[in-house]
Amino acid sequence: MEQMRMQNFIGGEWQDAESGAWYERENPARTRDIIGRAPLSDARDVDRAVAAAKAAYPAWRAMSAPARGAILHRAADCLAAKGPDLAVLMARETGKPIVEAEAEAVRAADILRFFAAEAERSFGEVYEGRDAQALLYTRRTPLGVVGIISPWNFPLAIPAWKIAPSLVFGNTVVFKPSREAAHTAGAFVACLAEAGLPPGVLNLVVGGGETIGQAIAAHPDVVAVSFTGSNAVGSTLAQTLTARGAKIQLELGGKNPAVVLADADLDLATELIVLGAVQNAGQRCTATSRVIVERDVYEPLRERLLERFSEITVGDPLDRGTLVGPLVSAQRLKAVLGMMARGEAEGAKRLYGGERLSGPGGEDGYFVRPALFDAVSPESVLAQEEIFGPVLSIIPVRDFEEGIAVANGVRYGLSAAVFTNRLDRALAFAERIDAGVVRINGQTAGVEPHVPFGGMKASSSYSREQGRAAIEFFTQTKTVTIRPPSVS
Ligand code: NAD
Repeated sequence: MEQMRMQNFIGGEWQDAESGAWYERENPARTRDIIGRAPLSDARDVDRAVAAAKAAYPAWRAMSAPARGAILHRAADCLAAKGPDLAVLMARETGKPIVEAEAEAVRAADILRFFAAEAERSFGEVYEGRDAQALLYTRRTPLGVVGIISPWNFPLAIPAWKIAPSLVFGNTVVFKPSREAAHTAGAFVACLAEAGLPPGVLNLVVGGGETIGQAIAAHPDVVAVSFTGSNAVGSTLAQTLTARGAKIQLELGGKNPAVVLADADLDLATELIVLGAVQNAGQRCTATSRVIVERDVYEPLRERLLERFSEITVGDPLDRGTLVGPLVSAQRLKAVLGMMARGEAEGAKRLYGGERLSGPGGEDGYFVRPALFDAVSPESVLAQEEIFGPVLSIIPVRDFEEGIAVANGVRYGLSAAVFTNRLDRALAFAERIDAGVVRINGQTAGVEPHVPFGGMKASSSYSREQGRAAIEFFTQTKTVTIRPPSVS
């Protein structure tokens, strides 16, 4: 396939990095297939992007919200029209299986439409005041120039759910996607540009996180940063941002449990747990990574999981029959293999998988066979740390009480599921689990675009994204009292 030559988008113009430097992005399924080259930007490019966003801000915030929303609607049409091509690009660039990539392209368009419609909803509230003559109301106003830093694992959906609310509420944006998904991010920005976004309202800067992510965080004209990624990077960013008083939103890692109780439908639980663990090669913040099972059904569940793991098709992400593609990079592959080795060194027993595989046709690729570990201790590295790969650990427990304790016994709190036919247990689980997303007889993974999303404990900065919750981060509230000039 033809190689792409991607550029930054600053002040309405596509342009190379100031340094002229670039890097090549390879297809993680076939490492000799080069997707294209992308700029290696530095702080100078960030400065220009922030200046463009600052210059565009007064006119953009002065535009009516429905007019801003109309641009998002047109961008959604563009995404819908280009969806199949974007999905192929995403599959080649990140290794996401094509069926999942297509669903994400549709979802990104849905997210733009949801936030386009936000423009038609209320931006404030009217109150009764102590003064009967006065009009007392609140108004949501934009923040200014917002930085968006995103990961590669949902290269359309996450930028969409951060950028769309930023824009519709009147902010201008400097967007730094992950190096591993820059071409997909560029195609997304192109749709917004084609939809008629004025120059400077959305700026794209591509390159290394340590360089330009930090430059965005440190820039005094960036008033807020919304970040999704790892806890390590999130905490570095938080230090920089809080030191200068900027607003910050962190959406971080997970170690998501599926608790299976003795009365559960084991076939349903097996199917949803396996899909939750291995889709997108386990590289989802909401992936199922721990199966916490009541002893009475431990044996039958383990047998079912083993059988289902042995049926998983690992292969070319562009093949519609593939359930699991490659990991996104050599670095990820090394990290996942290393975590499994640590788990085994601590005594965890590997029931299935975990070995490195070659790519389709025997080429190099970052493939690993999905792995199932048995009788894992709740203290094991496999049960405590985010692996971000297709690795599932079975943890047997005595009963529901121990199940809740083990499920809550990690530093993360993003998503959690319970499988049970008992309403009392389902309700107790929903109440007592430390997780921002709770599923009863459902997958830990996946989110609806119109409802709040985010984690508890170390999984987020107590903020929520998506749905109506997005207004909380991307606006600030002004309280206004208007009195008549003289009261008769
Ligand atoms: P990452 O933290 O390595 O990178 C995220 C972004 O930060 C990228 O754009 C990267 O270039 C940038 N970055 C890297 N170093 C930086 C630095 N020093 N300063 C500023 N920016 C820097 O994460 P990743 O590998 O891209 O994504 C995987 C992680 O994201 C996992 O931990 C996963 O759980 C998390 N995630 C969370 C959610 C959620 O909503 N909670 C969703 C998806 C992914």
